[in-house]
Amino acid sequence: MNTPAARPPKIVPLTPIEPSVHFHPIRKSVHAACFAIFVALPFFDVMRFDIPRQRFYFAGQALWINEFGIIFFALMFLMFVVVGAAMLYGRIYCGYLCPQMIFSEASVSAQRAIGRLVERRFGFVRGAARQRVSAALWLLAVALASVGLAFVFISYFVEPRDLFQRLAHLDMRTAAGVAGGATTIVTFLDFAFVRQRFCTTVCPYGYLQGMLADDGTLLVKYDDPDRICIECGKCVRVCEMAIDIRDSPDQIECIHCGDCIDACADIMGRLGRPGLIHYTWGRQGAKRLVFVFVLLFYASGLAVAMSMRQPVLVKIAPDRSKLYWVEEGAIRNHFRMTLANRTPTNAFVTLSIDGLNGARLVVPENPIRLAGGQEWRGEFAIAAPPTLGRGVNPFRLVTRTDPGGTEDRQSMTFVMPATPEGR
Ligand code: SF4
Ligand code: SF4
Repeated sequence: MNTPAARPPKIVPLTPIEPSVHFHPIRKSVHAACFAIFVALPFFDVMRFDIPRQRFYFAGQALWINEFGIIFFALMFLMFVVVGAAMLYGRIYCGYLCPQMIFSEASVSAQRAIGRLVERRFGFVRGAARQRVSAALWLLAVALASVGLAFVFISYFVEPRDLFQRLAHLDMRTAAGVAGGATTIVTFLDFAFVRQRFCTTVCPYGYLQGMLADDGTLLVKYDDPDRICIECGKCVRVCEMAIDIRDSPDQIECIHCGDCIDACADIMGRLGRPGLIHYTWGRQGAKRLVFVFVLLFYASGLAVAMSMRQPVLVKIAPDRSKLYWVEEGAIRNHFRMTLANRTPTNAFVTLSIDGLNGARLVVPENPIRLAGGQEWRGEFAIAAPPTLGRGVNPFRLVTRTDPGGTEDRQSMTFVMPATPEGR
């Protein structure tokens, strides 16, 4: 009896699948946006610690160094945003937002692009000479970029137009000029020779992130329960941090850039399978609830401090080095005054007296005019007739500031001689 021949196995053609998301182009778009923000912040006074002017520019407001409350809340708020990002998103800041990473990757890309260009254009030159030409061109590009980056960095501390004047005159005498020169050298050495090594050795944020991560922090994780990894090694080759994510999702070097996710999704997609590496979240930890409360606290403190901000500061205190003076038949008390116009436009401070019969102000001008950003320290006197009550006379000194029309009534005392002979 003839047995039927075994049928050959049916070959099912592979249906490649396209990964739903590619993280690399997203990350490069975020890098471009971050670079634009990095350059724009000091130029548009969104953030600058202006050392020569002793101002902290924040959200377009010129805060004076003595406005400690607002500066404190602003810095604490920013710090907790960074800490919170580390807790929730792990080192995603490193891969997507950090200037060190953005410029390190740009330096690596420029080196490769220049290498390819030289290869194409100077194919007739010997290999070693070609490498030297490409290295020289790349170092020149890094040097030019370092001048620009150092300029933007120092703009966070010195007004950019002022800084440009110093750069145009190659100023190496003032502190800003020396700082600019030193920053250019450090930037050049960093992006020519250190680059991503900085992230895995000295960067404090990497260590901070290690301490803040909890079970809910975002991770990049290799997950292959069916053991279908084809060992192509592409996830390792694309990793700029030179690690193998299959070893562990907790490697401190991993900056959560997602390049290995794209690589594996492409390779496995050609086999009709989804990628084996993913961004994954854990369970929510209690630490982040505490964090939300702390962040809300500093955000509210910052909002309250900004809303209470006085655009024109007025400080008046009596000068008690001598209790009273007798001048032109009147009794005088002297006062010290500090005025600060924190706005960019002219402001006026008008003084008046309430509750001191017959007294008059002795001031150089009233209202006192202050130019935008001007600080004024000086003295004035109040002269009262000798008929005013003996001893201490309470009254209120009224200050009105314009624009804004804010009126402040400060309780003061006027000292008269205790006896008529005191004159
Ligand atoms: S392991 Fe993946 S996510 Fe981590 S740094 Fe390397 S390529 Fe980026
Ligand atoms: S890219 Fe994917 S398939 Fe290739 S070695 Fe890495 S994990 Fe395995």
